[in-house]
Parts: sequence; structure tokens; C-alpha cells
Amino acid sequence: MSKLRLAIVGAGPAGIYAADILLKHERSFDVSIDLFDRLPAPYGLVRYGVAPDHPRIKGIINALREVLDSGDIRVFGNVNYGTDITLDDLKRHYNAVIFATGAIKDADLTIPGIDLDGSYGAADFVSWYDGHPDVPREWPLDAQSVAVIGNGNVALDVARILAKHPQDLVPTEIPDNVHAGLEASPVTDVHVFGRRGPMQVKFTPLELRELGELNDVDMIVYDEDFDYDDASKAAIQSNKQLFVIDKVFSQWRARETGSASRRLHLHFYAKPVEVLGSDGRVSAFRYERTRPDGAGGVVGTGEFREVPVQAVYRAVGYFGSPLDGIPYDERHGVIPNHEGQVLADDNALMPGVYATGWIKRGPVGLIGHTKSDAMETIKHLVKDQGSWWQPAEPDEQAVLDLLQSRGVLFTDLEGWHRLDAHERELGEARGRERIKVVPRDEMVRISRD
Ligand SMILES: Cc1cc2nc3c(=O)[nH]c(=O)nc-3n(C[C@H](O)[C@H](O)[C@H](O)COP(=O)(O)OP(=O)(O)OC[C@H]3O[C@@H](n4cnc5c(N)ncnc54)[C@H](O)[C@@H]3O)c2cc1C
Repeated sequence: MSKLRLAIVGAGPAGIYAADILLKHERSFDVSIDLFDRLPAPYGLVRYGVAPDHPRIKGIINALREVLDSGDIRVFGNVNYGTDITLDDLKRHYNAVIFATGAIKDADLTIPGIDLDGSYGAADFVSWYDGHPDVPREWPLDAQSVAVIGNGNVALDVARILAKHPQDLVPTEIPDNVHAGLEASPVTDVHVFGRRGPMQVKFTPLELRELGELNDVDMIVYDEDFDYDDASKAAIQSNKQLFVIDKVFSQWRARETGSASRRLHLHFYAKPVEVLGSDGRVSAFRYERTRPDGAGGVVGTGEFREVPVQAVYRAVGYFGSPLDGIPYDERHGVIPNHEGQVLADDNALMPGVYATGWIKRGPVGLIGHTKSDAMETIKHLVKDQGSWWQPAEPDEQAVLDLLQSRGVLFTDLEGWHRLDAHERELGEARGRERIKVVPRDEMVRISRD
């Protein structure tokens, strides 16, 4: 074997890092990589998840772009695995495939009322404010008081975007429809609810501290949540992140509040019980007060409270989606695998099929973690040379012909450069770094020019 023809499905960070690591890996064969994504633009959740007011993180795109620009990877955007290209096609044209399809859906929260009008998944809202082409352009921002359920970074992103004054988002890449939607929002109070205590949160100090710097937004925390138990006190001493988080809370507790036009409340020890409605619409959020159980968890106290809200956002995690012909773990929303080698239903290795990133290990962790993920997967791919597929049509032109014969309007790297330049020009004309193009057909038209 002198050449590995590799397909990677998913051009998010996991897929791009996998390509980069393979190209740099010590090996005895040449490599030719085709990277497919269902979206016309690459970068996955870095483009469509990371908040627009986090330009430093969005900047990771520059590093990912360098990998794509290295000249050794072909990019096929606007190609959906499962419809435009299938597992049989991949077996016909490649020696192996790596699935790096991430997660884009909200995990479920099964409490009564969660399906009422005005109750939303955070992932859908994130997709909207980040200009994802496959979600409606309008978002109903008509609530004055909002509940956000969850205590991770996504919950804080959602709460921040809801509470932030829209003029403070103008310098970012948010699309015009998003700015207009936020501008019309009558919101005054955003309440974030976490089931556990302030020292059991999943968010990071940087994301938390940022909330306290929002213009004309008061941070409201409640003294009753800060009567730390021994486990929390020990955690502050042993965990640097929690030490900083505790400091941030202490500063906020000492702050004067009352002058800002908007408030962001953090409620701890609040277990979601029900979303209450009237006339089919959200009218309140009901929770049970919890307390520490002495073993790092919480137990219900039997005390129930209600906060009047007109919208609820559940930010309780993302969830991966199944892929045609590929095993799927329904409980965890991942592809079953051993260190990236995909496992068939009988737990045997599935030759030629690999996974990396969020679809491999679940939707937790930062962009950087997808790099170590990819290293592990690539190590096995290289070592498994003897069990790769033997494709009938490995020729690089054959897959292009296939997509063309199916009428797939795929975009390529040149096309991405065109779209990228176009978005930058749109931004430059308005003194901003970029303004995203949202409609899929427009993205494709500009890319294919
Ligand atoms: C709201 C939010 C904010 C975040 N903020 C940060 C942050 O500030 N800092 C940080 O380090 N991390 C952040 N993360 C985490 C980071 O985004 C993830 O760690 C990372 O994106 C996971 O990479 P991935 O490549 O596995 O998945 P993804 O980024 O989801 O990429 C998967 C790609 O696969 C494609 N795909 C899916 N299905 C198909 C299919 N059938 N056919 C073809 N293509 C397909 C998708 O279109 C997508 O481009 C955030 C995550 C979220 C959800």
C-alpha cells in the first residue's frame, strides 16, 4: 500500500485536527484526504457554537484555516453524509473513514411543561445567534423575564447573550437579523438555575467573570446559596478554578446593585421541576430547593418555589445524532468505539471506520481536547493498515464525478476563501471584522461563484 485515501466526515475542529495530525504522523505511506461537511463552510461549532462576543476563541479558525490551506486536504462542503454520500460510496472510493460529526442537538430535559410555547433548547438559540443556515431566521424574543436551566459554559453564553445590550454586540460578527432580534427584546431579568451549589458548577472562571463586566447589567447572587458545606470549603482549597470562582462570587456579593436596567440572577440548589404555562405559553418556572448531601451531590428539601418567566432555555447539554450504517449509542448520543476505532453491535472492531471529537466521546470539553482525541484515533488508523478497505475506485477524480452525477452543489476550499472574503468585505464596509452570510443557498452561490 503506497497511499491511504482517507475520508473525514465533519470539518469541525476534530476533523481538521485529525487531518493535520495524520499528515504530520510518522508513516510508511502517502496520504490523500477528503474532508466532507454538510455545511457550506467549515469549522463546525467554532463557527456555529462559540459565542460571537468571544473573538479570541473564534480566532482558532485562523489556525484551522492554515491546516486546510496546507494544500494536502480537499474540502467538500454542502455534502451531507447519509444522503449525498453513503457508507457504500466511501468504501468504493477510500481506504478508511473518520467520523467527526460532533453534536448539534439539545439533550432532553424531561420535566412537565418543557414543550410549552416559549420553552427552547439552548442549542437552537445558539445556532440562531451564530447564524447557522438551517434554523429559522426569526427568534421570538418577547419575554421580559427568562429562565436558563444549566450550570455549564453554554448556559452562561445563552444568559449573557440574552442579557447583554445589543449595541455591545455590534462590533462582533452577528448577522443583522440577530442584532435586530436582540434589539427588540424587552428582557430585564435573566435567571440561571443550577441543581447543585456554587462550588459544583461546570462553567469556567473566565466565562463567569465576564458576566460581571456586562454594561448596565447587575449580577444578582443570593446569600442563602453561600453557606458552604465542608465539601465545598475543601473544594475551594484544593481546586484553583473553584478558588477563583469563589472570589468572583464574593466580589459580586459585596457589590451595590439596583442601578442597572437589566439583571442576571444566579440561583443555586434549584432543581428543575416544571415549566408552568397559561394558554399553552410559558408563565413560570418551578423548582425544588436542594441541599448538599455531604457526598458532593444534592438532595431535595421538599421546598418548592416558582419564578414568573415568559421563556425558558434549557442548557443541559448537547447530543450527537446517528449516522446511516454506523453503530450508535442511543443513551450517550455517540458512536461506540475503542479509542476511536468504531465498534460494531457485537463489540467487534469495524474495519476502516473511526470516530473522533464530540461524536466519539460525547459533547463535553473544549476545542483543544479534540486534538488529543484525534491523536488517539490517528494512532489506531495508522497501526490498522492491514485492515483498511480496498476501494474499487480510489482515483481522486471518481468521487468528484460521483457528486457531480448526483447534482450535489458541493463547495470547495477555494469556495470557502471566496465566502470568507465576501463576509470580511461585508464587515469592513460597516467597520466590523466580518458579517456572516446566513442563508445556505446564498453561501453556496457565493462559494461556487
Ligand atoms: C455553544 C457552545 C459554545 C462553545 N464555546 C467554546 C469556547 O468558547 N471555547 C472552546 O474551547 N470550546 C467551546 N465549545 C466546544 C467546542 O465547540 C467543541 O469542543 C468542538 O467544536 C467539538 O468539535 P467537533 O469537531 O467534534 O464537533 P463540531 O464542532 O460540532 O463539528 C462537527 C462537524 O460535522 C459536521 N456534520 C455533522 N453531521 C454531518 C453529516 N451527516 N454529514 C457531513 N457533515 C456533518 C457538522 O456540520 C460540523 O461542521 C463550545 C461549544 C458550544 C456548543
